[in-house]
Amino acid sequence: MALIVQKFGGTSLADRSCIYNVAGIITQKVRKGNRVVTVVSAQGDTTDRLLASAWDIAKNPCPRELDALLSTGEQASAALLAMAVSELGVPSVSLNGFQSGIQTDGNFGDASITAVQSEALRRLIGRGAAVIVAGFQGIDEKGNITTLGRGGSDTSAVALAAALQADSCCIYKDVDGIYSADPRIDPKARKYDHLSYDKMLELCDKGSGVLQRRSVELAKFYRIKLQICSSFQQTKGTTIGESGQ
Ligand code: ASP
Ligand code: MG
Repeated sequence: MALIVQKFGGTSLADRSCIYNVAGIITQKVRKGNRVVTVVSAQGDTTDRLLASAWDIAKNPCPRELDALLSTGEQASAALLAMAVSELGVPSVSLNGFQSGIQTDGNFGDASITAVQSEALRRLIGRGAAVIVAGFQGIDEKGNITTLGRGGSDTSAVALAAALQADSCCIYKDVDGIYSADPRIDPKARKYDHLSYDKMLELCDKGSGVLQRRSVELAKFYRIKLQICSSFQQTKGTTIGESGQ
């Protein structure tokens, strides 16, 4: 029995059929005897829409309220996914950042994770529930909701994998791995089977938006091997770890 932490991005959860596709991936792993924690992003372009609505209301939205607003996107997808997983016959519960014990500093809009209090999460996993965690968010020491910067649910997933000492950490995307260039634009783009943490950090610096840089830094620090794979295709993705692994 393995403890798996996995993360699904917004495109992988964009609509009902995508949500059920992800629910199917979760229930398959649970039925094989694994314990599964799934971190989710907001559906589709929800975060951009929430941002636009804030600027529609206020000339200069208060950072605290902006984070309170933006965090709802991930909470909605977590609740919807938990409902879908339960519909497929596996007990499932969703948690927001606060409930999953993710503590951060108070830097609204770009907060850093300072600790993960994983007791509640461990209890739920121990009871056999498929736990769905709203990514991209935590709580600061004053009890304010914070968000982790764009793409921050990658970092939520890696932080939870470290705190739970997970056996694997899989980041599901709408692409099936990391490429040397954007495969949608450059037909000569080559998929990497494996990348070292440092090479991946270099790609982040060159503008590869596939992973939030901080998630790779955290994975390097805790020596967590990442698997990048597609939620739509069953191909071998890219692993990120020590060089030559
Ligand atoms: N929904 C947030 C964003 O679009 C966080 C994430 O996707 O990881 O940046
Ligand atoms: Mg997103």
